[in-house]
Parts: sequence; C-alpha cells; structure tokens
Amino acid sequence: VVVISGDAYVDHPSFPTAVITRLLQKCGLRVAVIAQPDWRSLEDFRVFGRPELFFAVTAGAMDSMVANYTSMRLPRHEDRLSPGGKAGMRPKRAVGVYCQRLREAFGAVSIVIGGIEASLRRFSHFDFWENRIRDSILIDSGADLLVYGMAETALVGVVDWFRSSSARDGQAPPRLPQTCIKVPAGMGPEAIGADYVRLPGAQECRENPARFMELAAILDQGCSGGARAKMQSYPKGDVIEFPPASGSDSPEINVGAVFNRRGHPLYDEPVPGLLPVQFSVISHRGCLGTCTFCALAMHQGRRLRSRDEKDILAEVSGFPAHPDFHGTVPDLGGPSVNMYGWDLPGHRPGLEPLAEVLRRVRAIPGIKHVFLGSGLRYDLIRDEEWGMLEEIVRFHVSGQLKVAPEHVDPRILTLMRKAPGADFAGFIRRFNELTERLHLKRFLVPYFMTAFPGTTTQDEKIAAFTRIHHLVHQQIQEFTPTPGTLAAAMFFAGLDPEGRQIPVPREDAARKKGRAKIQGPSRRGRS
Ligand code: SF4
Repeated sequence: VVVISGDAYVDHPSFPTAVITRLLQKCGLRVAVIAQPDWRSLEDFRVFGRPELFFAVTAGAMDSMVANYTSMRLPRHEDRLSPGGKAGMRPKRAVGVYCQRLREAFGAVSIVIGGIEASLRRFSHFDFWENRIRDSILIDSGADLLVYGMAETALVGVVDWFRSSSARDGQAPPRLPQTCIKVPAGMGPEAIGADYVRLPGAQECRENPARFMELAAILDQGCSGGARAKMQSYPKGDVIEFPPASGSDSPEINVGAVFNRRGHPLYDEPVPGLLPVQFSVISHRGCLGTCTFCALAMHQGRRLRSRDEKDILAEVSGFPAHPDFHGTVPDLGGPSVNMYGWDLPGHRPGLEPLAEVLRRVRAIPGIKHVFLGSGLRYDLIRDEEWGMLEEIVRFHVSGQLKVAPEHVDPRILTLMRKAPGADFAGFIRRFNELTERLHLKRFLVPYFMTAFPGTTTQDEKIAAFTRIHHLVHQQIQEFTPTPGTLAAAMFFAGLDPEGRQIPVPREDAARKKGRAKIQGPSRRGRS
C-alpha cells in the first residue's frame, strides 16, 4: 500500500498517517508513505510505483481548507503539521487533488480515501470557502472507496477485500462496514441489498435549502448510531454509506508502544504540531456532546471509547526511557476530558475515572507532572465532585484550565446545543474561591464563539460578561461552518434545526462585529 498524506510524517499516535501506516504494517503489508507530495507535478506520486493493493489517500489530520485558511477565509501563514511550520505544503482540497494526480500517473489504479476531510465531505456538503454546496468527495475525487471515521477496524476489512481473488479479478468492493462506494445512477438499492435511508438528492440540496437542512439533520442523527445504510443520488451515480459493523467499537488506539514519537529523520526542521503533544496521551475517543458546530461526531461518532487504564499506564511507563522525555506529560485527555471512563465497566459518569487515572499516572516513577491540556466540560461537574476537581486543579492544571462555554446567551447556546442552562458565572466564582483558598495561581481560559447562526446583537453579552468577570485570558473565534456539521447547514440555509428561519451573519463585516465588541476593533483575528 502507498499512503499519500497532506501532513508531514510524524511517528506519533496523534497523527493519523502514522496510525494508518502502523496498522497496515500490522496487517503484514509493506507500506510506503508519500508525505506532502508536490502536487504540481507527477514526480512525487510516481516515486514508489504502482502499489500491489491500493493507494490510501488522506488530507491529514485536518480538512485541507481549514488547514490553509482562517475563519475569515484568509490564507494561513503557518501550517503546524509541516516541517518548520511552513505554509503551502498541502493543496486546497487535498484529497481531490491527490486522487487526480494519481489517475494522471497511473490511470486505473485502486484508490481508497479516508481521514477527516473525506469523512466530513462524504455526502453533499456546504463549502464555506466557495460558498456553495459541493458534491460528495467520492464523486468529485474519482476515488474507488471511502473509509469514514476512525478507520482502524474498517481498514482491516478493506485490506482483506483487496487481498481477495474477487478484488484481483476487478470486481467492485462489496458491502464493507464503515465505507462508502459509488455505483451507477439508479443502481444504489440493488447494491445495498437491505433496508436503507434515502437522503435528499444532490440536486435537491443545491436548489432547496430546506432539503439540505433535512440532509444535515439525518446525518447528525446518524452520528448517534444506527445500523441502516444511507444512499444519496447524484446525476453521476449513487453514493452509498454502509454502517459500521456491530461490535467494532472497541478502542483500537492502544498501539502507543510502536511509535517513536518523532518527526521523520528526513526533515531538517521540527514539525511544530508535534512539540506540544510529543508526550501527550489520548485517553478516549468520541464525545457524548451534540454541539451543532462540532465536526467530531461526523468523524468519530457520538459514542465514547475510553482506553483501558492499564494501556494508558503502560504507554506512559515507556516515556522515561525516551531520550526526549523530561518528566512532563503535557496532556492526558480527549474530547471533553471529564468524559474519560464513562463507558468503562464499573464506572459511572463523573470525574472519578479521570481523577483515578491521573493519580496512577503521577505515581509512575520518572513522571514529574501530568497535565490536562484538553478542555473540561465544567457544566458536567456535580457539586459533590468539587473535592476531586480540587485535586485535579492542584496537581494537573499548569496555570490555565481550558473551558468552552462558547457563549452566554441562552438562545445562541440552544442553537449551538451547548448546555444552555449551565451556570458559568457560578463556576467562575467557585473556581476563584478554590484557587484563592489553595493559594494557587491558576486561570480559567474560556473559549467563546461569535457570529454563530442566529446572532444579531447577542455577542455583546459576551463582551459584558468577560468584563464583569475579569476574564482576561479568553479565546474568541468566529464561527467557521465546517463541512458536514449541522451548524454549516444552518449557516447556508438560514434555518434552525427545526426548520425555523434565523438571521445569519454572513458578510465579513457582520462576522467580525462580535469579536470587535469583546476585544476592541484594533485586534486582528487569530488564526
Ligand atoms: S463538547 Fe466539545 S467535543 Fe463534544 S460535541 Fe461539543 S464541541 Fe464537540
């Protein structure tokens, strides 16, 4: 297999190219990686020749438009997943561009696409940067097969298929779990061969915002699980998504030991994205949150998969032997870090599994510090858990604790589906009392989002709130409609998820207004 990736090659479990490469090796394959090929010619793509099984193409750890442009659609000057942080090492819409070059170089060769860009764009989606509805990336790229989500389990099935005699005879891929295929127009129902959900067609989505909203709502519900295939029709063919196999939800991320946690020796300069995570540890995947702006569910699903505590301990125990390790684990976490362990046997939702694993990690010989770098869902901490929070703040917060209230207006929070009833002011008060009592210099860093669909003047409330509560370290980000999310559909359609009309700040001037109120008009947007 030859892997083509938009990221530099970093041998670390947080870098999807490395995870996929190591997994393919575990399947007994020889794997070559072409990281950040020059897409302006065919030379780099030809370097390993035609693979025996297939090309595996990914844009990398981020959607390539998000990697290349800011939330104000300005080109980024840095790409933290490139050597030296150099911008411009991956093309816009990288998956499509790489597939096109492969077709030019090799003609009829098998191409499998995956990663976040492919996952988020697997059906009709709103592209903020072109301000239009684009077709499924499977149609646009000309790839043969799309593997969506965290693909370890599914990829093993894909490899088995490509090794089979049917694949070698040139047959089309069968109904492989967690994949999407395209078939000639009208052939979808026959190819699915079972009960399925028919999605609003591509043409309808382009012409009727309400139908596009319907599509987004069905896909959003699908993130919570469901065993039915989905089909969307295009003039060029039908795109079919097969559901994940039942029982394929075991965390396949316990492969920490095989990575050397370094950038490829080929690079003269370090990859900036590695430095903060070199000795970070992933605790879980998935989040039970349903935030409408979050792309995580479309990729990882809305289901928690926590790593077994003993696997985490085994991974950290190996750190002291690494020549680059100086005793600090900068982050142990995952999306909504306090959800760690809720799905493990014998635990119930709460802070206890996280507090417990942190306690054990800090007791490992050679570990001086273990910190939380991921955001904490402050609204999920119960009154009786403040003792545990105190322990976590005392030992595992290095100066700043990230929280993401996102907004303070209940109407906008409802549209975001982000804890509209939560008492952030109450949390700030208790947190400050706690740090004063312990004589600790710890600050809250709240993340806020402005210019969300539905906003007229509500962002002004954030400005007032941050002033009243002296929140000097706040992070403000204008809403970016990420492909595949419900909020992107709200932005495009001007509708809330129930189909009611909402105002949408679309023009740049309107989008910048909220931040200007909070930070003053002279501050430039962060990238
Ligand atoms: S809580 Fe965070 S990770 Fe979870 S859905 Fe919301 S934004 Fe995404």
